[in-house]
Amino acid sequence: MTGATTLINISVNAEGAARHDVLSRAGFEVLNATSAPEAWDLLERHRPDLVLLQLPEREAAEVLRWLQADSSVQAVPVLHLSDRDSADSMLIAAVRGMVRQRKAELALAEATAGLEAANEELRRSNEDLKQFAFVASHDLQEPLRTVTTFVQLIAQEAEGRLTEAEKGYFDHVVAGANRMRSLINDLLSYSQVGRKDMPKATVDMTAVVAWAIENLAGQAAEAGVEVRTAERLPKVWGNFAQLGQVIQNLLSNAIKYRVPDKPLVVEVGTRETHGPQCVISVRDNGIGIAAEYHEKIFAPFKRLHGPDVPGTGIGLALCRRIVDMHGGRIWVESEPGRGSTFFLRLPPSPQK
Ligand code: ADP
Repeated sequence: MTGATTLINISVNAEGAARHDVLSRAGFEVLNATSAPEAWDLLERHRPDLVLLQLPEREAAEVLRWLQADSSVQAVPVLHLSDRDSADSMLIAAVRGMVRQRKAELALAEATAGLEAANEELRRSNEDLKQFAFVASHDLQEPLRTVTTFVQLIAQEAEGRLTEAEKGYFDHVVAGANRMRSLINDLLSYSQVGRKDMPKATVDMTAVVAWAIENLAGQAAEAGVEVRTAERLPKVWGNFAQLGQVIQNLLSNAIKYRVPDKPLVVEVGTRETHGPQCVISVRDNGIGIAAEYHEKIFAPFKRLHGPDVPGTGIGLALCRRIVDMHGGRIWVESEPGRGSTFFLRLPPSPQK
């Protein structure tokens, strides 16, 4: 805030005039009023930083009531002076102190309003983006299905007449279309987290982990993985299906990114915390991740591997989004060649 500090000095006696001089000399712009209507008029025309009030008890109470009743002037601070508060230096110090506080409050209110507006803008553009991703991915499915179907039809029709090279081209088209379908499906699931209602309840993480292991039974048996789950995992406050998806993605990654020819062991446990939040850990003895990628791997479609390892790079982004929606946090601690541990911090269930 810039410009001179304006004070309205409401007083009916000689003290008031003296105060005017003292404060003017100290650099304030002082407007005097000797009656309530006069003060009112000044308040409406100027936006003072402070009102100084020196009136007999009853009249002062009246003016204060009247100032507080009007919402436009309510926020203007009032310095109520008695006849004893006449030392000039004290008066100037008190006025300066109150004006400084008022300016700080106004600056804070302005900054808060700016922040709220920026937040609202961000929320809206996030919403637009989610909507866009949903519509785009949903509407892309149909033409893609048409392309795949007709390419396959042409390949069938031309079966005996195709050269080896031509067969190879058709295979590339179909593989490309399949990959595109996976990307679209993943984009669709990613954009849908947070769109749908997410009913929350007490969720026993032991049951969530058992559910995820069950879903991955085939893949796990093939990889010969041993999953060791702590005897008791915490109960958290969240959505069973979505947390199940997070654990399933983490276990599935542990299987995908294991060290060939080394028995894979995954340990699901919990870590003591000082606060009320629960921390669940999923540790593997796989290939590990270099420190520079510990954050990047949570971005949508970010992959550290080429097409030889299946995946679209959405798994961890989805995990992060789900955990964020729970008001929690997900992160990794890892070193190449020494396995990875993914941590989930989640709000605890109110029920023990
Ligand atoms: P995707 O597995 O489809 O590539 P994710 O989002 O699940 O996508 O993972 C992103 C990247 O993080 C993977 O490409 C992989 O390089 C790395 N990553 C994820 N989990 C592990 C893990 N347990 N061990 C080593 N690398 C991992």
